[in-house]
Amino acid sequence: MADGTVLFALRESSLGQGAGGGQLRRIREAVEARGLEVRWAGSEADARAVLRTESGLAAAVVGWDLGGGENAPGGDAVLRQIGRRFKDLPVFLVMTDEGDEDLGRLPLWVSEVVVGYVWPLEDTPAFIAGRVAGAARAYREAVLPPFFRALRKFDDAHEYSWHTPAHSGGVAFLKSPVGRAFFDYYGERLFRSDLSISVEELGSLFEHTGPIGEAERNAARIFGADRTYFVLHGDSTADRMVGHFCVGRDEIALVDRNCHKSVLHGLVLSGARPVYLVPTRNGFGLAGPLPPDGIGAGTVADRIAGNPLTRRAVSPGAQYAVITNSTYDGLCYDAVWVARALAPSTPRVHFDEAWFAYARFHPLYAGRYGMSVGPETFAGPDRPTVFATQSTHKLLAALSQSAMVHVKAAPRAPVEHERFNEAFMMHGTTSPLYPAIASLDVAAGMMDGPQGHWLIDEAVTEAVRFRQAVVRTGARIEAAGDRPAWFFGAWQPEAVTDPATGERIAFADAPVELLRTEPACWRLEPGADWHGFAGLDDGYCLLDPVKVTLTCPGINALGETADWGIPARVLTAYLARRNIVVEKTDSYTALVLFSMGITKGKWGTLLDALMDFKALYDEGAPLDRVLPGLVGRFPRRYADMTLDGLCRSMHDHLRRAGLVTLLDTAFQELPEPVVPPQWCYGQLIRGGTERVRIADAAGRVAAAMVTVTPPGIPVLMPGESVGGADGPLLRYLGALESFDRAFPGFGSETHGVTVDPDTGDYSIACLLPGPAGE
Ligand SMILES: *Cc1c(COP(=O)(O)O)cnc(C)c1O
Repeated sequence: MADGTVLFALRESSLGQGAGGGQLRRIREAVEARGLEVRWAGSEADARAVLRTESGLAAAVVGWDLGGGENAPGGDAVLRQIGRRFKDLPVFLVMTDEGDEDLGRLPLWVSEVVVGYVWPLEDTPAFIAGRVAGAARAYREAVLPPFFRALRKFDDAHEYSWHTPAHSGGVAFLKSPVGRAFFDYYGERLFRSDLSISVEELGSLFEHTGPIGEAERNAARIFGADRTYFVLHGDSTADRMVGHFCVGRDEIALVDRNCHKSVLHGLVLSGARPVYLVPTRNGFGLAGPLPPDGIGAGTVADRIAGNPLTRRAVSPGAQYAVITNSTYDGLCYDAVWVARALAPSTPRVHFDEAWFAYARFHPLYAGRYGMSVGPETFAGPDRPTVFATQSTHKLLAALSQSAMVHVKAAPRAPVEHERFNEAFMMHGTTSPLYPAIASLDVAAGMMDGPQGHWLIDEAVTEAVRFRQAVVRTGARIEAAGDRPAWFFGAWQPEAVTDPATGERIAFADAPVELLRTEPACWRLEPGADWHGFAGLDDGYCLLDPVKVTLTCPGINALGETADWGIPARVLTAYLARRNIVVEKTDSYTALVLFSMGITKGKWGTLLDALMDFKALYDEGAPLDRVLPGLVGRFPRRYADMTLDGLCRSMHDHLRRAGLVTLLDTAFQELPEPVVPPQWCYGQLIRGGTERVRIADAAGRVAAAMVTVTPPGIPVLMPGESVGGADGPLLRYLGALESFDRAFPGFGSETHGVTVDPDTGDYSIACLLPGPAGE
């Protein structure tokens, strides 16, 4: 592999037969002879294409006069694009004239971008190539973030180790055929870089010293935190750590009902008494944001007062609030707004940003992430201390399990490092995996400078293009008039306003430039039908364009059902057969993510599959052709059916059962809390719980979390009453149970529910009956 790539962006004609042309070719050869690869671009367009696709670039040699058309030199545009894409890439500008009057004509900004000038005939090719190669090598070293750089250096030193891990750089694996296969599979490098904490040169994750500490401080700068902690066991651990630090036994925690189970685990560990905050929902059954009204001081005080568990709390106010931001479906808050609303109720706010680590790197999300809440945006003594926990691996580029905790502390609730570090160590291993630390370091480094924006912008742009393509395809089908007019949709506004002109533009016709840069296009305007959430204020919540919810016919965001429809489970079963795996499936919607790994080919294939599904549906294709695996597994149920027949009967079932309405009532009122989560856990480990069929569960107290999709958020928390047989919760679970029986192979996504393989009965974990002795 070459030591890096050098872009030569020089006008085709400058390579002619003249002395200058021959000299440039010799410079190229001399650069190649120094182990670098050269990409030659003969025009501005070529150079831009190389810049878009070539991330191994280590230097650029650019001709000012590249022929940009309209009297533009072309070289200027290339220099600007380099500045947008790369931080500190060494650029050499090739001058054609002799003398310095040429230099004097260049715009002033050019000298800031350029590290050197090349007059091809003034120096020898070897000398010029040496300067380029030297700068390229220095750049390749300088771009490395602190820990990864130190790790590479250490690896190069080839020490003998007398410490753990006992595989000793992989050597132990070579002593058995099984180990050998493992070694060969990953290659030596993984094992060489899997080191023990005894390697002092690399610093300590527990003491946050040396290159590890430097890497954490570098990440804090990049993510805008006062302090950043690297967590190697997922955002789950980060959530438990922050929960365990912020709230103590019998203290009150305000918890977004739309929370991950790790937040609940934090409550079990700390012994906190949770008071839940309830998100809105729309007609699709998607969970929305916590409405502004629901987090105001008055409502929160009422909720605390109305919760029987808080009577025995050790202090009256909440020590901590935890909010999911963004939600799974891509709804993100004005974080300062949320912090202001919660400030009277609690001194600490934790944003769980498992799916949102990229927010700081694109202006669409300005002010929508936890670390944007600081003294500059929230002046005065009320500002709460803010924590943000992120699954770095989920939407940035890092190895699985890699996560970060970011802290921005306010005087009201100081976070002294020595104290927080106790929580940090309690939830960490004493044998961290160094490649995982390196991946956190690299994930941060990739976002540093202009390239962070560039990478996220690419995902946003492709998501916008896909969203527009879905709408346009639907419109084309309708206009063609030669087939049924229906198509799938994307959940988004039907029209947007260009703030510059005040003009209202149909979404499909809006310029990509507007949609990818203007946050106003993505805000949930109060009362708009497309999103269907009630009680929002302008600017409070924004739909993240990279999280695309596909909508199927059958119901709309207001919950109005149609006579026919296509349940999303059938669609995603078909997509899975085409090797397209979606992130989440609800009743009539499916979620797909546009991450940094997106390509046009990937979304083009998805769009194509949607059109194929439509064609199969419209032609009445037999099910054994569309979903042969399903028919093979359940021949009695599905043989002789057609795709449209299955969709119709499933839609009719969902409508008759009123699942979406049942879901709505199940969420209108939270179940009654009876005992705190930690008490339930105590019962669980002492045999004080049992599984109960939902048919028999009326009046019981749940011992474990129950989450069903939709809405993908907990319907029941440990310590909460299941309610009456006719109560909303058991009716909802009962309806899901009968759906699963009626449509084998399309079972609901349920966590905390056990399904009997023979009878299809649902059961859940409950406390043994008896007095609740909390
Ligand atoms: C996935 C997720 C987590 C846990 O993250 P891991 O990195 O998988 O441990 C926490 N919170 C939310 C909201 C999540 O979606």
